[in-house]
Amino acid sequence: MKQTNKTQQYDVAVIGAGSAGLQAALTLGRMRRSVVVFSTDRFRNDPAEHMQNFLGHDGTPPAELRLAARKDIERYESVEFVERAVVAVAGEPDAFVVSVDGSPDVTARRVLLATGLADELPDVPGLTDLFGTVVAHCPYCHGYEFADRRVGLLGAGPHIPMLAQLMSRLASEVVVLTNGAEPEPEVLAAIKALRLEMHTGPVLGVEETEKGLKALLDYEHTVDLGGMFVAPTWRQAAPFAEQLELETGDLGGIHVDIMGATSRPGVYAAGDLAHHRDLPMPMASVLTAAAAGLVAGAACDRDLVMSDLAAVVTAT
Ligand SMILES: Cc1cc2nc3c(=O)[nH]c(=O)nc-3n(C[C@H](O)[C@H](O)[C@H](O)COP(=O)(O)OP(=O)(O)OC[C@H]3O[C@@H](n4cnc5c(N)ncnc54)[C@H](O)[C@@H]3O)c2cc1C
Repeated sequence: MKQTNKTQQYDVAVIGAGSAGLQAALTLGRMRRSVVVFSTDRFRNDPAEHMQNFLGHDGTPPAELRLAARKDIERYESVEFVERAVVAVAGEPDAFVVSVDGSPDVTARRVLLATGLADELPDVPGLTDLFGTVVAHCPYCHGYEFADRRVGLLGAGPHIPMLAQLMSRLASEVVVLTNGAEPEPEVLAAIKALRLEMHTGPVLGVEETEKGLKALLDYEHTVDLGGMFVAPTWRQAAPFAEQLELETGDLGGIHVDIMGATSRPGVYAAGDLAHHRDLPMPMASVLTAAAAGLVAGAACDRDLVMSDLAAVVTAT
């Protein structure tokens, strides 16, 4: 494991080495920026064996893409990887301090947060084990894999009618399991209008079957499904939005402008953890995270260029 260079001030500390952080590091490394990239061994898509809907990599195991990205970046000598968790970030432009678990603090001129989100699933026994295979949250990532199957939608929230309509184009049948919740009248009206099978009892558990999974509604009654969608609650995977008092939105994403700048000067954010306020929700995918990493990396570089230019002009 590489130790950080105690005395060096890095141009940019990138926290997170998923697709957002890796792409940001690549962009910055190509500009010969001194970059330190921190990562733990946890990634949001760890539960999924395959990554869908990424051009040129549709169906690739997510770790393969990250490995290829790391190899690309290793060609750029100004980028260092440190496999350690960051515990705190503080400071201001040109003087950020990044505190690292079990390693000396690091200082950096700019910080780029790419620590992603963590998913909290409904409290249904067995759900966590099946998340990423026959239980999914994103129809654009996993909907096609459930094509021509009987697909369950767990929950009764306002997203159900849209998800039902969307999945009815792929699934052989859509079944709503409200898990004991009472749908609002307009949700119920849409479920009825779409003529969907609906079960209103609590789901006591889910179990994998040969053809997908079964949901246990009571000890005698099960619903057989080919796949199921859930709506996880998202939270920031790391505490830096709070520590740095960054503006966040209702869904918990760090508000960023179109270039990835947060509400705090010198702090950029890219990937699942960031949210541009014009988008209805954080656009969470491997490709959008990588694209945001490129943009935020370039914005960080430009910020440093402009700051250095101003210093040179002032000094003359
Ligand atoms: C089950 C599942 C399946 C999915 N399938 C797909 C799919 O098929 N296609 C698709 O496009 N998208 C898919 N997604 C979404 C995709 O996983 C995310 O959009 C993408 O991983 C976001 O990348 P990221 O770089 O923002 O975050 P992540 O990939 O989650 O990376 C976060 C990084 O931050 C690091 N980190 C976190 N905390 C700290 C800390 N304190 N200190 C240092 N480092 C830290 C982690 O170690 C990691 O390196 C799926 C998501 C889930 C949950």
